[in-house]
Amino acid sequence: MSLQGKTALVTGSTSGIGLGIALSLAKAGANLVLNGFGDASAAITEVAKHGGKVGHHPADVSSPEQIAEMIANAERDFGGIDILVNNAGIQHVAPVDEFPVERWDSIIAINLSSVFHATRLALPGMRSRGWGRIVNIASVHGLVGSVNKAAYVAAKHGVIGLTKVVALETATTNITCNALCPGWVLTPLVQQQIDQRALADGDLDRARRDLLAEKQPSLEFVTPGQLGELVLFLSSDAASQVRGAAWNVDGGWLAQ
Ligand code: NAD
Repeated sequence: MSLQGKTALVTGSTSGIGLGIALSLAKAGANLVLNGFGDASAAITEVAKHGGKVGHHPADVSSPEQIAEMIANAERDFGGIDILVNNAGIQHVAPVDEFPVERWDSIIAINLSSVFHATRLALPGMRSRGWGRIVNIASVHGLVGSVNKAAYVAAKHGVIGLTKVVALETATTNITCNALCPGWVLTPLVQQQIDQRALADGDLDRARRDLLAEKQPSLEFVTPGQLGELVLFLSSDAASQVRGAAWNVDGGWLAQ
């Protein structure tokens, strides 16, 4: 499929899943607005290899003002956002009665409220151009819980609820809104959890195997590229009646 002439904004695309999705969109011909922390130059170079226009905005998506500035810049420099992928997210693992209040607040701001702000600010442009795709990167934790992930699970359940509302409010238009719900994907966010598990005996391989074995029957990680291919499908005409879905990609996690 060709996304030539379309512009995609992927939040949190300087690493991990966001970068994988940005690469898939760029390979299909889309122009890309990247976002995320850290040195963005490697991500920009990699995405730019595919020939489209590439920019990066360093907005901290916990700030509604910075999201607004990022979207206004994208509209000015790229002519609008056709595909919005709300991907930026963080994790913190602790029992609920020990969960640091400031970590709760930042997980809700980054993993949930940013999806609301980016969506409300990108939608008017999509409506005026008569086409749009919004893909929210939720998680299996938007559909089931796990211990020690109170804020993350609450935020991801919220993302799926928001996805359904936006899908209904756009149901008679050429704009769709869906969520992807990955199981384990080996990114810096998950590597931190593997490192934490390996603290006791330093055996990273065992920590990785145990992490998969607890939840993911395939015993294999989902890849960012596989999620990128799904974003391409959701951006296609074939997916124009896929609305408000929460599509799990989880090696069988939710089949149990
Ligand atoms: P990651 O840590 O590799 O990447 C996160 C990205 O978000 C980075 O580019 C980072 O700079 C950016 N980011 C973090 N805080 C930000 C902020 N305040 N403002 C702007 N950018 C910010 O993580 P990942 O594993 O690629 O996760 C991406 C998304 O996928 C998250 O929403 C995560 O919850 C979700 N997810 C991940 C997994 C997994 O197993 N890795 C599974 C299900 C869902």
